[in-house]
Amino acid sequence: MERETDVLILGACTAGLYFAGLMAKQGYRVLVMDRSPETDLGTRYDIIHIGKEHFARFGLPEPGPGDPDYVETFHRTVLRSALNRWPKNQNADILVLRRAPLMKRLAAWAREQGVELLFDTEFIEPRFDDAPCLSGAIFRHKGGELCVKARLTADASGIGAALRTKLPDGCGVENFITGPRDQFYVVLRYVKLAHPERDKPTCTQTWAYYKTWLAPRMNDSGAILGIGANLSLDYADKAWKRFEALGYLPEHEVEYIEQSGTPYRRPPYSFVADGFVALGDAACITNPWSGEGVPYAWLLCSIAAEEFGRVMKDGAYPTRGSSWGVNTRYQRSQGAEFAQNLAMLSGAVDCTPEENDYEFKHSIIFEDESEKGQHNLLLGLLGGLVTGGLSFRALRNLMGAAGIGSKILKHYRSYPENPVDFAGWAVQAERLWAQTGSMAALAERDMETM
Ligand SMILES: Cc1cc2nc3c(=O)[nH]c(=O)nc-3n(C[C@H](O)[C@H](O)[C@H](O)COP(=O)(O)OP(=O)(O)OC[C@H]3O[C@@H](n4cnc5c(N)ncnc54)[C@H](O)[C@@H]3O)c2cc1C
Repeated sequence: MERETDVLILGACTAGLYFAGLMAKQGYRVLVMDRSPETDLGTRYDIIHIGKEHFARFGLPEPGPGDPDYVETFHRTVLRSALNRWPKNQNADILVLRRAPLMKRLAAWAREQGVELLFDTEFIEPRFDDAPCLSGAIFRHKGGELCVKARLTADASGIGAALRTKLPDGCGVENFITGPRDQFYVVLRYVKLAHPERDKPTCTQTWAYYKTWLAPRMNDSGAILGIGANLSLDYADKAWKRFEALGYLPEHEVEYIEQSGTPYRRPPYSFVADGFVALGDAACITNPWSGEGVPYAWLLCSIAAEEFGRVMKDGAYPTRGSSWGVNTRYQRSQGAEFAQNLAMLSGAVDCTPEENDYEFKHSIIFEDESEKGQHNLLLGLLGGLVTGGLSFRALRNLMGAAGIGSKILKHYRSYPENPVDFAGWAVQAERLWAQTGSMAALAERDMETM
């Protein structure tokens, strides 16, 4: 079977559906393929947290009380030190949502814009009619092959990046596979609280040192206990047991567990190639501090829709050069901030629980909403060294992390305006990334002590 469309999208989830709707809204013919049946859409895990502001910001209908995807809203996130002290409040309205009905909402919104969705349709390989330019993809659908010709093909197939990883070397977008060392494994324990009247969470509490959190759930007697860990689920399990033994959590009984990986590595240097764009987890744009990906997927999708909407007018084929604005706009803004954080993290967290506690006490790295901008980082660090709150090693790690982080930030802020200057920029970026530490290596070292 042959089909032809303007925009072909692999993956009907957070990124794919949103990009699809934005392109259809501009009058393009959009076809979205997903290998799952429609009934499985968004069922990989249940509860998801998304900042309320993002719905209005990205022009999406916001779930509210009475909607099947809405659970509740909380207004505060509290960060605590490794010794469970010095709470740092961050105020923002966060929606607690159910992922499957949320994806239904997105799918309905995309259809309203004119998008066609095809489920039970698995990607097989990219299609190159006028090689080397990508011209669509081939799928397996109801036992037969479906060849789709498209001017733009978007990979929004999640962490597996089914299409990006099958693009030939040198096509303009890196085709790396996001393997176990490049993932952040998230394990969510849905628990029943022994004393809900006392312990039911009204906000999310996070222990950044252990990458663990306690969050509201969709019923009065429950909570979600989460951990994120680099390297493996095995490490996540061991790290969880160690955290649990500290006794910070309310008494509870585990009802069920969900676990899955999110990308934890730098994104490809370019998201676009001739006739191609990578979006969402396929583009590895999750927040390095939290593993959250939805608002950033929507941000990249909105930039991409504006750029492709413009360059594909009058039947034009979008080339790497004509769609370069996707790279420049994302990499210089959100991309630069996440690159800095990713570069800094392994150095910033490489300290003892007591040192982390000192950092909280003196608002080094972690600040309360009311303290923003009041602390001098350098003075805090030197004070730590003088009083013994921080070892020389921890200080060196922190300073090293801050140094490489700011260099990477500056480099991404000057992301090239056009592809001509890209090769030199990428070589320098490689040099900088080679100077950063690895969270997977830290996890391996920690595993040896367990
Ligand atoms: C346990 C866990 C909790 C999380 N919690 C949050 C949170 O609270 N807030 C937040 O913002 N983020 C959270 N994230 C991250 C967030 O889930 C992802 O960043 C987001 O789902 C990425 O969306 P996506 O559309 O890029 O990919 P996905 O949601 O992975 O969707 C990819 C789609 O592509 C389809 N597909 C895959 N391969 C093929 C193929 N070969 N052919 C056809 N179709 C294919 C899949 O069926 C799927 O529907 C969490 C992640 C995990 C693992």
